[in-house]
Amino acid sequence: MSVPPVHSRVLFGMTAHPITIECHVGSGLPSTTIVGLPEASVRESRDRVQSAFKNCGFDYPDGRVVINLAPGHLAKSTSSLDLPIAISLLAATQQIRTTTLNQYEFLGELGLYGSLGSVIGVLSCALAASQDNRCLVIPTANTIEAGLAPPQTIAVAATLNEVASLLNGQVCVTPPSCPEPEQIHPTATTFDKVLGQHSAKRALTIAAAGGHHILMVGPPGTGKTMLARGFVDLLPALTQRQALEVGAIYSAAGRARKQHRRPPFRDPHHSASAPALIGGGHPPAPGEAVLAHNGVLFLDELPHFKPSALDFLREPIETGEAVITRAKYTVRYPCSFQLVAAMNPCPAGRVCRQDACRCSPAQVRRYQSRISGPMLDRIDIQTQVPALPRQVLISLTDSQDTPAVQLRSKVVAARQRQIERQQTINAKLSGTELKPHMEAANIDQGLLNQAVEQYQLSARSYQKLWRVARTIADLEGLDRVTTPHLTEALSYRSLEWERGVS
Ligand SMILES: [Zn+2]
Repeated sequence: MSVPPVHSRVLFGMTAHPITIECHVGSGLPSTTIVGLPEASVRESRDRVQSAFKNCGFDYPDGRVVINLAPGHLAKSTSSLDLPIAISLLAATQQIRTTTLNQYEFLGELGLYGSLGSVIGVLSCALAASQDNRCLVIPTANTIEAGLAPPQTIAVAATLNEVASLLNGQVCVTPPSCPEPEQIHPTATTFDKVLGQHSAKRALTIAAAGGHHILMVGPPGTGKTMLARGFVDLLPALTQRQALEVGAIYSAAGRARKQHRRPPFRDPHHSASAPALIGGGHPPAPGEAVLAHNGVLFLDELPHFKPSALDFLREPIETGEAVITRAKYTVRYPCSFQLVAAMNPCPAGRVCRQDACRCSPAQVRRYQSRISGPMLDRIDIQTQVPALPRQVLISLTDSQDTPAVQLRSKVVAARQRQIERQQTINAKLSGTELKPHMEAANIDQGLLNQAVEQYQLSARSYQKLWRVARTIADLEGLDRVTTPHLTEALSYRSLEWERGVS
């Protein structure tokens, strides 16, 4: 009698490869062999399945058991194959009905007492399974991330017994409760907790509105980190499609996100290596920059990051994709983040007062030159977050500040204008797409020529200038860029400290 194969998935990068599992029980001395390139964690599943069978009241076959994982050329190194292996054994020994087996796929790690433990990559696997018109059975522990998958494509179960009853037609498996797409209305954000710093807040609002990369320069304790954390609250909520992309990445990394629509925020430590930033390992796992996809990557103390690690960020910044190539594999992750960086103006940091830096020009130059020219060239907006004099600090009250909620509605409106006009945000406008805006602009050409001369703007910087000016005009709801917009955009490219960088 032939038994239908059991379907499952193995995640590699962001791709959920289909796997089929067959089981044959022959006569001979009791033994269990798993074939089809199982790695250590899959070979261990033999012992977990045996114990789970005993403790769930199933009979483990007495004869010679062969379990085949197809296709044989794909290495399998995940404990999520425990459940499908167990199901194929139950099917081969006629302990469950197999009539509906073909309608399901299974993922889950078995505990010794038959409980199902959480696994990685559930969302990608669920989407792939639904394309093949199958329902994916997953552990209850993965319910939150599964909420993003289309309804009716997922069933959750807590134990092996529950899965067996599902297949036997006694439905006691609950579908996951799909969380409503939550609305993000930040009330009191960390952004509002920073008093004053109006110019930095203005620069961050522009960065949020146009999707521009931004660098904040200022001494320690002036609120750079709090502003960066609050920056996420200025951004519009993710669309369904963006939320799904982010959800699939987090699912592949084995992390659950509670607020699917909130743009992710990642702040890796400056000691992070290139694999930690981009991704790597075996099996490959996404790094911090990939986890920041559709959200914010905050690099505090930018000059302290390893130049080699920062260099790896240049490609994702250009292409929106992280490609990880190792001897055994190449994987691609979506990696389109907004960079928010912060740094001190000089290496001594807290010791130096802003108006009285005791570092030598050579020390300052060496410190600043740790950020490579090409990296700096990719940052659209540079702003200062100065230490405020005591008398100014005392007179500050939060009533003088525009609340983040108000800034956010401006940002959302400006983004709306951009999407309606050009189907993309200003930061992603190409040179040809920028051209009509340059031609339509109502500006003082003499002033522009003078600025290009004075700041020695490269072609790339010149385009960035226009993109930022376009965003400032969008924040005001204007169709044409005018001289004040361009002047303000110029002010974000002309920090004093930058002259030290060659
Ligand atoms: Zn100094």
